[in-house]
Amino acid sequence: MRKITIIGAGQSGLLLGIALKQKDYDVTIVTNKTGEEVRTGKILSSQAMFNTSLDIEREFGLDFWEDDCPPIDGVGVAVTGPDGEKAFGWTARLTTGHANSVDQRVKMPAWMDRFEELGGNLVIEDVSMEGLEKYTADADLVLVASGKGDIGRMFERDAEKSAFDKPMRALGLTYVKNMVPRPEYSAVCFNIIPGVGEYFVFPALTTSGPCEIMVFEGIPGGEMDCWGDVKTPEQHLEMSKSILKKFLPWEAERCDDIELADDNGVLAGRFPPTIRKPIGRLPSGAIVMGLGDAICLNDPITGQGSNNATKCAKIFLDSIIAHGDKSFDEGWMQSTFDDFWDYAKYVVQWTNSFLTPPPEHALNLLGAAASSPETATKIADGFDNPTSFFPWFMEEDAANDYLAGLK
Ligand SMILES: Cc1cc2nc3c(=O)[nH]c(=O)nc-3n(C[C@H](O)[C@H](O)[C@H](O)COP(=O)(O)OP(=O)(O)OC[C@H]3O[C@@H](n4cnc5c(N)ncnc54)[C@H](O)[C@@H]3O)c2cc1C
Repeated sequence: MRKITIIGAGQSGLLLGIALKQKDYDVTIVTNKTGEEVRTGKILSSQAMFNTSLDIEREFGLDFWEDDCPPIDGVGVAVTGPDGEKAFGWTARLTTGHANSVDQRVKMPAWMDRFEELGGNLVIEDVSMEGLEKYTADADLVLVASGKGDIGRMFERDAEKSAFDKPMRALGLTYVKNMVPRPEYSAVCFNIIPGVGEYFVFPALTTSGPCEIMVFEGIPGGEMDCWGDVKTPEQHLEMSKSILKKFLPWEAERCDDIELADDNGVLAGRFPPTIRKPIGRLPSGAIVMGLGDAICLNDPITGQGSNNATKCAKIFLDSIIAHGDKSFDEGWMQSTFDDFWDYAKYVVQWTNSFLTPPPEHALNLLGAAASSPETATKIADGFDNPTSFFPWFMEEDAANDYLAGLK
């Protein structure tokens, strides 16, 4: 039986570990927090996932919350004009199937239990480089799925593939109850405030039941980069409300009665989006391979990280199985990563395009969607498969041809 060790029990590590267990591999997952610590700790993400990714979870019987988690049925976009009023806005139903967001504090402990029920070996340890040496000596393949954890720095930053070397947004997350639902159907409501940042909000399932997740993406140094002096959860909630009152009155209207889902339902931080080389070499010469955010870390602005981590885990799973009894050497690692990058490069390019002032053709397309339901649907569905934004959304000539075809 082939022995595989995975460092990290997050979206990618647990999904891959459970799927490998179901295929009778000998799997160890080493992670630095117990399920109870994750469940009672701070929120980690807003983790909205689209249907293609949810289908991968369903394939391995991991959709435990399908009945309890409120579905996200659409995607909406609103852009403010120079006068601070809404310049345009639209919402479209997802035709690819609903999305959803299960708080990782709910999901990961339950998946850890499932992994152990299947006979997986779960070890609680904060893995160091020495620890990695120990695990590589004892396994056919070691994968590092440590997310933003420091151990991931062992993978060299890929300067060619990384567009930025500093954080591009100051992030704030607030999990709340009692928000007024948007009319007709639920949606990720994505608001762009040019020069200030973005705000998006959608329903989710948290530790105490359904909630709404507010995500703030402030341009560094701008008016929405405002979490530095916020010290308490109550102040965090007040800051969230005051941002909306100032910049997005139509969103503020939904928030008169909001309260925190729990005191740990707040988060603020920032990180540089970073692509790393997939193969890490230890002092002994042994090699390990990165997975998920450890090697492909995106800004959350387009809500792709968990989706990407899931698709990465599935590509790696298929490649491990197809490789049979052969050695997991450098050539296999690189070609497995290349298969993932064939998809992920589009996600990264599209996501990064929101982190700098949008080109005119993109704004024109977003605006055109207000009077073209077909365009609105195309954009909404693109969140499930960002490769579909190429070339018509991402390339100027193709975008102008598309716009000309609408008239
Ligand atoms: C503010 C914010 C909002 C987001 N919103 C979305 C969204 O709406 N949609 C979306 O798809 N994605 C979103 N994401 C991204 C998403 O959460 C991540 O991309 C996803 O969780 C990555 O999965 P992963 O398995 O690579 O890493 P993670 O899920 O981060 O898991 C890493 C694991 O490794 C463990 N670990 C770390 N270091 C060590 C070590 N040294 N030893 C042992 N264990 C270790 C950690 O404890 C954890 O279990 C968001 C992220 C942020 C920060």
